[in-house]
Amino acid sequence: MEFLYLIATIGLVLGLKYMGDPAKAVLGNLVAAISVALALIGVAVNSYGPETGVLNIVLVIAVLTAAIIIGRLMAMRVPMTGMPQLVSLLNGFGGLAAVVISLLEGIAHPIGDDMRTAGGLLILSAVFGGVAFTGSLVAHSKLEGKKLPRARLRHKIAARLVLATMVVLFVAYLVWPSALMPFGTLLVVMAVLSLVYGALFTLPIGGADMPVLLCFLVALHGVVAILAGLFFQDPVMLIGGVLVGAIGSLLTVAMSKAMNRTLRSVLAGVIKRDNSAGGREQDIRPISAAETASLLAFSRQVAIIPGYGMAVSQAQGVCQEMQVMLERMGATVHYIIHPVAGRMPGHMNVLLAEANVDYDQILAMEDVNDVMDRYDAVLVIGANDVVNPAAETDASSSIFGMPIIRAYAAKQVIVLKRGMATGYSGEMNLLFDRANCRLLFGDARSSLRAIIDELKRI
Ligand code: NDP
Repeated sequence: MEFLYLIATIGLVLGLKYMGDPAKAVLGNLVAAISVALALIGVAVNSYGPETGVLNIVLVIAVLTAAIIIGRLMAMRVPMTGMPQLVSLLNGFGGLAAVVISLLEGIAHPIGDDMRTAGGLLILSAVFGGVAFTGSLVAHSKLEGKKLPRARLRHKIAARLVLATMVVLFVAYLVWPSALMPFGTLLVVMAVLSLVYGALFTLPIGGADMPVLLCFLVALHGVVAILAGLFFQDPVMLIGGVLVGAIGSLLTVAMSKAMNRTLRSVLAGVIKRDNSAGGREQDIRPISAAETASLLAFSRQVAIIPGYGMAVSQAQGVCQEMQVMLERMGATVHYIIHPVAGRMPGHMNVLLAEANVDYDQILAMEDVNDVMDRYDAVLVIGANDVVNPAAETDASSSIFGMPIIRAYAAKQVIVLKRGMATGYSGEMNLLFDRANCRLLFGDARSSLRAIIDELKRI
């Protein structure tokens, strides 16, 4: 069995490594899936007990089969734009599982006062799991655009009080194990407090800080698995936890850097105030598909900046078609990706890979920001926050300080969007009324199709 677990572990690590390379990503996914299947077979076989016989194996297989069917149905039904919500929900379920396992274990097998390490691990597992669960549910609702209570100062204060109570109870347990209450009661109290804390601490985090929060919740999920792995002395759980925890932590750091924010300031949350730029009329200049096509036809250097709207309209395929046409007409076309564009880390890379865009054509924001003026035309396709100059110029904006792609520095910018809606952060985009910016209104895919039709006529 240990050998099976070792193979599964090596497979998981290899799968993750392959996923880092666009050419091997599909293979990586397959290797990781097979490794998880091997680990699950190990779990099923390991559940054989002398008293229960094969009953446990049958139960484990039945539960796994049901989970596989439900997971498959969910993954098939969810649209590409719903992926971040699904990931967030699955993350939350991992946390919930940790809470349930900790409670069952702690109540079914009473932990004596001389087993503080085991008791401490169970409590921490329940606490981190609880925070990951309700935190992910709140994040899921925010991504879905559901209405949540508006974050107020009292939520932040309550969150800190709950956190302080948990810390005091935990330290008290370590020093005088049963002085305050029996272990089982303490475990339930801590689990409930962590569920409340998860919801309270995520409520004030929103807008452009969401990517950091999502990565942090993934890291938390990894920590939960590490704690459970240590408690049950289960190497597969431990290694899985280390991998998820490491990935989540690295992503959290990368996303914080991309937003130019410290993790501390993100987790502290922001109480939204009325925006200074909000409500001001913008002087915008619309453009037609025919005018856009003729502008592009005479441009030598073209950049495309994709954003969440490209995912919504599934415009990546048509966009690649237009890119090939422009190249045939003699233009050089680059894609510029912002690390937090879309609704999940790597969202735009996935879309462009789907459309078979050559990886060499995709540039990182920091590599081109200082030379944006070399582009004759920049097409912003369904992106908004990631090109909003308010991040550089408006200190009262919630995205102030976030590095942006400096689309405004190009000779001409054309933004494809349906109306005047704001991006995820809710901030007015100060790019739209710049002299070199024009807006092509409509669904991105239809607009791109119209541009292609016009290009054919030129
Ligand atoms: P934004 O959310 O800022 O803007 C999306 C734009 O797309 C809107 O202006 C919208 O305008 C437009 N749009 C929507 N549907 C269509 C369509 N069918 N056709 C054309 N346009 C469309 O996206 P960005 O990618 O610029 O920024 C990402 C934001 O999401 C950042 O604030 C980031 O912090 C946040 N975020 C990112 C996460 C991540 O991990 N990457 C996770 C969570 C949040 P209109 O409706 O008028 O068409």
